[in-house]
Amino acid sequence: MIALNDLQRLHAPQIAELRDAVGRVLDSGRFVLGSECSRFEGEFAAWCGTRHAVGVANGTDALEIALRAAGVRPNDTVITVANAGGYATTAILACKATPRYVDVDSATMNLDVRHLANALLPDVRAVVLTHLYGRLGPAADVARLCRAAGVALIEDCAQAHGARDGACGAGAFGDAGCFSFYPTKNLGALGDGGAIVTDDDALDARVRRLRQYGWEAKYHAVEDGGRNSRLDELQAAVLSRKLPRVAAGNARRRAIAQRYATEIDNAALDVPHRGGESDVVHLFVVRTRHRAALAAHLAREGVQTDVHYPVPDHRQPFLTARFAATTLPVTEALADEILTLPCHPAMTDEEVSHVVAACARFAA
Ligand SMILES: *Cc1c(COP(=O)(O)O)cnc(C)c1O
Repeated sequence: MIALNDLQRLHAPQIAELRDAVGRVLDSGRFVLGSECSRFEGEFAAWCGTRHAVGVANGTDALEIALRAAGVRPNDTVITVANAGGYATTAILACKATPRYVDVDSATMNLDVRHLANALLPDVRAVVLTHLYGRLGPAADVARLCRAAGVALIEDCAQAHGARDGACGAGAFGDAGCFSFYPTKNLGALGDGGAIVTDDDALDARVRRLRQYGWEAKYHAVEDGGRNSRLDELQAAVLSRKLPRVAAGNARRRAIAQRYATEIDNAALDVPHRGGESDVVHLFVVRTRHRAALAAHLAREGVQTDVHYPVPDHRQPFLTARFAATTLPVTEALADEILTLPCHPAMTDEEVSHVVAACARFAA
């Protein structure tokens, strides 16, 4: 079976280094907010081109803490998309704020900036812009509209580690960028992890208080809405060792995407052109009107697939009543037609060829 991810194969070339990093933390006797975390925060901020990076427990917490730090309060509205897996929605609801969904562009599957101006009403406190599947969203345009409206821009970079547009990288366009280090992400830990990057010194300080009970100093809580959400030393040590290899992994993802775009030859599949510096191809997603049949065919051919994501946020069972009046035609159509093909750095050329051939053999 050609899997969507193969983390054992990914880690094999540096397994001794990773075991050594884990062993060092074990020997150090320090497990939370120690030197490994501050070292990784410095390295990751430099890598993202931001002044600060703050390690937190996971990507969803990163979004929630960034929203709170940016001033989102109960009953505020936060704009986002409904096709990005529900993580931003979870974070917005955790702040007791209300999501307002805007539709996406059918070609890029990212937020359609043409809908943003109309949605930026006075109740809006922030926009969460997701760089979906690893491809940068329209960050410069969204940042301009947010600035004009006096609204915070939080980037969801959980799928976009290292995506760039010229001088600016994912996470550096808005007030804050939120990353996940879930094991399958382009930079993944050996468990959960996350980070918030920012150039704003005051926002950095608020995030640092919010991740640890609202403390300004030990046992002195000054910030409302504080949490326990820290990046532990084991994960930070592993992430430091894996960070230097992300660029090569992204390059390999782009090369696979390039082969899919040029070699998959089947009119029943809409295969996108992906790659370039603005796209780190976290997920390679094709579109077809015969999704169930294609997924079954590929499974028979030994190719694992998945759907990212099958249920738009406003159609999740716990939200359907609340968003009954919301219709997002592009988002809703895509949810029924998208299918994710394997595209990870440890795939061999032979495996890519097998996926290409299996796609060519599909008869709708
Ligand atoms: C993975 C992911 C998250 C959440 O990250 P966790 O660490 O799993 O909480 C947020 N947004 C997007 C787009 C993601 O893919």
